[in-house]
Amino acid sequence: MSTVIYWFRNDLRLLDNPAFLLACGASSHIVPVFCHDPADRALTHWGFERVGAHRRVFLAATLADLGAQLAAQGSALIELTGRAEDILPSLARELGVTRIVCEAIAAPDEQAAVQALRAVGLIVDTVWQSSLLDPDALPFSTRQLPDMFTLFRQAVEKANVAPSVPVDFPQTIPSLPVMPVPLPHRHHVMPPAAPDVDARTSFPYQSAAYAGGTTAALAHVHQYLDRKLAHTYKDTRNGLTGLDYSSKFSPWLATGALSARTINAAIEQFENEFGANDSTYWLWFELLWRDYFRFLHLKYGRKLYRYHGLAEAGSVRPVHDATLFARWSRGETGEPIVDAGMRELAATGYLSNRLRQIVASYLIHDLDGDWRAGAAWFESQLVDFDVYSNQGNWLYLAGRGTDPRGGRRFNPQKQARDYDGNGAYRALWETA
Ligand SMILES: Cc1cc2nc3c(=O)[nH]c(=O)nc-3n(C[C@H](O)[C@H](O)[C@H](O)COP(=O)(O)OP(=O)(O)OC[C@H]3O[C@@H](n4cnc5c(N)ncnc54)[C@H](O)[C@@H]3O)c2cc1C
Repeated sequence: MSTVIYWFRNDLRLLDNPAFLLACGASSHIVPVFCHDPADRALTHWGFERVGAHRRVFLAATLADLGAQLAAQGSALIELTGRAEDILPSLARELGVTRIVCEAIAAPDEQAAVQALRAVGLIVDTVWQSSLLDPDALPFSTRQLPDMFTLFRQAVEKANVAPSVPVDFPQTIPSLPVMPVPLPHRHHVMPPAAPDVDARTSFPYQSAAYAGGTTAALAHVHQYLDRKLAHTYKDTRNGLTGLDYSSKFSPWLATGALSARTINAAIEQFENEFGANDSTYWLWFELLWRDYFRFLHLKYGRKLYRYHGLAEAGSVRPVHDATLFARWSRGETGEPIVDAGMRELAATGYLSNRLRQIVASYLIHDLDGDWRAGAAWFESQLVDFDVYSNQGNWLYLAGRGTDPRGGRRFNPQKQARDYDGNGAYRALWETA
């Protein structure tokens, strides 16, 4: 038994965290670390920050909650600034550590970081744990993943693939090692200033009930189910404003404060007590979409990040008109439903699924924009940014993924008539 570094990534929880449990079981001392990548604050080549203010505030609350849970068990969260591949090797050297445990992330940058750590001789054990279903439990290998969501879902349901039971909080956490420089003193991360709460928001993350972290996440799931909102989800999920039209689980899922297995177990318990219906099934259905985009990454990896995605190379050319893009991102296109959605996104860090589809489709199909710039803008703004779901949905709408229909255009005027018939949403977000 020795000292192990546990590197928290998008799994910022202790509940149902098999990778963390593995580290606890394999070490006499454990050093829980989170790395703040300075690139998150730098401008991307699209001209804006990779991680905007909403995400930074939500993440800070998530880390504070995780830190408090570790402290309650005599440990601590060590927040460091730097790229993991740059700073973990020197930390490991200082501590005399050779092993790092972390969750597996099947996206190119995240995989490159792990490879870089291995290249300097560190043992890095990665554990896949962000999906609802275990890839090994699927009725096919991920290389054989069907290229249509419906075929995937049908195969999973026919084979009765069930998620594994969530694992509990660790009973005990191995203590921090004795350090030449006490580890908590290395913390030098400035807490970000929270943008003002916009009273129109559908996800007021500045309030305790919607703050980042497992504590608020569990309370949210319980109140959602206590109020039996899961029984009406399918009827309300296409709503545009308010706290309750959809589950709002996504920000906690995205940071890993809550696992999909924990949510699913709570819904199953709810179904056992109060009955299953189309709506409770539809929550499972949507969580399967989330899994599908994860498994697509396991199958196609880096190909999903090319402009042409899975389509023929050369069949399409990247186009990025910076002026049009700026108008789109500021909500100044002149198309009222699109502009309202883009203003909501920038002001609150959250947007309904319906609006995400409308605004993304508009950039791709009406403005002929580069979908990767749109995906990057969502990455910067969304408190629930998730690399798999974001990339997957943008690619799907652009018709560069596995969608057999080859792209989806949402007619903004028809969408406005169907989902905002009385114009209330457009009026609400008429101004920024
Ligand atoms: C262009 C575009 C980009 C998106 N980017 C993201 C993203 O970065 N992060 C993210 O979590 N979701 C993303 N989505 C999916 C979806 O819009 C959000 O998951 C959903 O709106 C979150 O709100 P909710 O938790 O209330 O969802 P609910 O409707 O209550 O759904 C329950 C859960 O199911 C999952 N889910 C629902 N719809 C989808 C979907 N289309 N794809 C994948 N999972 C889904 C989510 O985990 C969600 O929390 C994107 C959709 C589009 C069209």
